Amino acid sequence: MQLADVPSLRAALLTWYHANKRDLPWRRTEDPYAIWVSEIMLQQTRVAAVIDHFKIFMDRLPTVTALALASEQEVLALWSGLGYYRRARMMHKAAQSLVANHQNALPSTSVDLRKLSGIGAYTSAAIASIAHGEPIAVVDGNVERVICRLAGWEEASGAGATAQDREIGSLANRLLDPAHPGDFNQAMMELGATICLPRNPQCTACPLFTECKTRGEHKTTPRPKMQSRPIGYALVLRKTRSRQATQEVLLEQRPAAQSVMPGLWELPMLNTPEVPEEDLLLAVRHSIMQVNYNVQVRSATAKTVRAHTVEGGERHWISLTQAASLPLTGLARKILKRLELLPAALS
Ligand code: SF4
Repeated sequence: MQLADVPSLRAALLTWYHANKRDLPWRRTEDPYAIWVSEIMLQQTRVAAVIDHFKIFMDRLPTVTALALASEQEVLALWSGLGYYRRARMMHKAAQSLVANHQNALPSTSVDLRKLSGIGAYTSAAIASIAHGEPIAVVDGNVERVICRLAGWEEASGAGATAQDREIGSLANRLLDPAHPGDFNQAMMELGATICLPRNPQCTACPLFTECKTRGEHKTTPRPKMQSRPIGYALVLRKTRSRQATQEVLLEQRPAAQSVMPGLWELPMLNTPEVPEEDLLLAVRHSIMQVNYNVQVRSATAKTVRAHTVEGGERHWISLTQAASLPLTGLARKILKRLELLPAALS
């Protein structure tokens, strides 16, 4: 790409962004904490799923201090449904270290931000450029795709990937508008998310059409193959004897050796995933990373549950109202919602 083209590319992209950007809650603020929360939530999670979680999280924990003082269970409960819970745990740990060592505030440079738990090159560049105007390019998967197509490079993977990552980062920094780094970075990400789509780029609507080397004539990276796996859970309910006669559900926390989500609450897991038709309450699909789980839920009673489920987790009877505010796994929340067992306002 000729450097002479760069000023017109910047102008075209920023004009397009200001006219077309989606109105997202984290775009109405320059608060570094809010930008941090949104960027961590957005990693590997769809924007639509993040919007409500972000609003509730910021309502309950609006500052670094509030996050640091919250219990891990509360943080995980607010994260429930977003998946990849390690992100929430690391953010919580980073907030505690900021309160202990940095006067409750995030550092303002990308270099210092990277010293915090869970903040890498992408997140540090996003916070520093958007909140503090540091001229550093953000390179996420969307930006990477746009840059490769603009420059006419094939997307590399495996052996060539690291060298190409460096070239992509270097070109992204040359294109970055140093006068508006936050808006420019968000514009590149927005273009990748809404126009320069992985499989079907909308080139005729693209503000960079004139400068682009490929204009849709690129090789598409094949979509990774999803695996399919059956899995089953037991739903056990009981009525309390109190005057309100509330309903309780049997939930468990499984140890790290048995669960990819230790510390989160889930339904007891069945020892055989397939459920006889007469006991089948619900069949639902749930995807985690590259796996499509075909989930079957069977009804069981307090007496029969041991015979059907894998033991080893710590089980408790929890009222359905309380369950809604616990850190449930995304799948447990989905099952309870589909069966209309969670109070609507809290689910
Ligand atoms: S012209 Fe097409 S391929 Fe090129 S950047 Fe725009 S949307 Fe992507």
